[in-house]
Amino acid sequence: MAVNSSPAKSVRRRGEGQWALGHREPLNPNERTKKDDDPLNVRARIENIYAKAGFASIDPSDLRGRFRWWGLYTQRKAGIDGGRTAVLEPHELEDEYFMLRVRIDGGQLTLAQLRVIAEISREFARDTADITDRQNIQLHWIRVEDMPEIWRRLEAVGLQTTEACGDCPRVVLGSPVAGIAADEKIDPTPAIDEIINRFVGSKEFSNLPRKFKSSISWLADTPYEINDISFLGVEHPDHGPGFDLWVGGGLSTNPMLAKRLGVWVPLAEVPDVWAGVVGIFRDYGYRRLRHRARLKFLVNDWGVEKFREVLEKEYLGRALLDGPAPELPEKPIDHIGVHAQRDGRFYVGAAPVVGRVSGTGLAELADVAAAHGSDRVALTPYQKLLVLDVPGDRVDSLVTGLRGIGLEAQPSTWRRSTMACTGIEYCKLAIVETKRRGEELVARLEERLRDFDADLSIHINGCPNACARTQVADIGLKGQLVVGPDGRQVEGFQVHLGGGLGMAQGQSAGFGRKLRGLKTTAEELPEYVERVARRYLAGRNEGE
Ligand code: SF4
Repeated sequence: MAVNSSPAKSVRRRGEGQWALGHREPLNPNERTKKDDDPLNVRARIENIYAKAGFASIDPSDLRGRFRWWGLYTQRKAGIDGGRTAVLEPHELEDEYFMLRVRIDGGQLTLAQLRVIAEISREFARDTADITDRQNIQLHWIRVEDMPEIWRRLEAVGLQTTEACGDCPRVVLGSPVAGIAADEKIDPTPAIDEIINRFVGSKEFSNLPRKFKSSISWLADTPYEINDISFLGVEHPDHGPGFDLWVGGGLSTNPMLAKRLGVWVPLAEVPDVWAGVVGIFRDYGYRRLRHRARLKFLVNDWGVEKFREVLEKEYLGRALLDGPAPELPEKPIDHIGVHAQRDGRFYVGAAPVVGRVSGTGLAELADVAAAHGSDRVALTPYQKLLVLDVPGDRVDSLVTGLRGIGLEAQPSTWRRSTMACTGIEYCKLAIVETKRRGEELVARLEERLRDFDADLSIHINGCPNACARTQVADIGLKGQLVVGPDGRQVEGFQVHLGGGLGMAQGQSAGFGRKLRGLKTTAEELPEYVERVARRYLAGRNEGE
């Protein structure tokens, strides 16, 4: 029997769901949910229906889809081990409580805002609070019934959870010391504010193919290489200070570093250029497979020349100026310790352990900061905290006060450079525990290798996703099940070695090597890291 086939059809590439090419029919369930009803509309249902009728009344497509646009994810049911993460249905894994992400664009908070978050944590979130590596604060144990009151309190002090998760513009990373850093030439805060006011919560960009991550900073003190878009400060020889534009970075599956478009953008044009790039993503981004939907795939397929051309011709209607490459630091800037501001005052950067704080701890922080003449703090993309605007004669007392509440301004290497994602305690995708293991790891290394004098970053992830940036750590740990000593599967990690961000000794940023055979059980993790650290000390070159 003859096979009825058409050669022309068999070689034709399938559409990837790009709106600009006329594909408007949703190609997967997530696209369907977004098309059926704009996810931002769920806010009214939460306030008018779900908060009154309770968890059981929530429509599943809102619960597991649209709620994210308001910063809400259901949290993992307690007691489900990592081995069952992949086999259970979503409703079997989830609890009737939520994780709530509060976005803090640019990372700075007044003490009034900090106190409101602390109060919400204590009243509605069982005193939980984690500082994320994207300058958010995450609360747990939130009930849908409490959301109207939580939003009322947050919004009264200018905070929001709008588009803190979901396929939309997430929190905009910014320098935690914007406006006060001694070596900053332009404070980009007005551009961040304009972007948030014009576009966050707007239906113009509430249906993107996938999440969209931004960073806008004069200093290279955010992980600019791994965002969908980054503006980084640069001095143009003719036009003065402005921003260098990078696009298409991202970790998780197929990690890629952002690429420079080679353009110089003045501060006033940052919001429009940002909107142009988001517009390209919305219209040309791939909407068939979610693991191929981030902007990095489009940038990779098009190349920077075509991307720049489309941005200029179709979105801005004008050419952008060519610009020089920015000077990059030798290593990431984390702002830990005491630093002079340009106004003569000081800021102090201190480390909690793996970003874990609490509502009580945040309230204490507000008290300590206020007692030392400060009215502002900032969160860093390294899960750390800064107290800003401290008079010189109060600095030493502040450092002591911070230590008294568990925030260390002179931390060990281990405390300073270890980060951990949410992990199995609350995350439905997790396979292993992360925060508690991170705390144990730091304690053990501080005890055994107290005077370790090199920078060695350790990033602990609870699953193959990269929320704590596994691939760009010196020691990246990716949670998975491994075979234990007795042959049974236990919690463990695959190890990535040698990743990093920023310019390290003349080499550009890169991803750690994933060494297939290199795995450790979670139980053996402290010994494992200790061995790696000792071997590094024994084998390092002079000055390394
Ligand atoms: Fe959850 Fe995995 Fe992200 Fe950790 S890396 S927060 S376990 S999704």
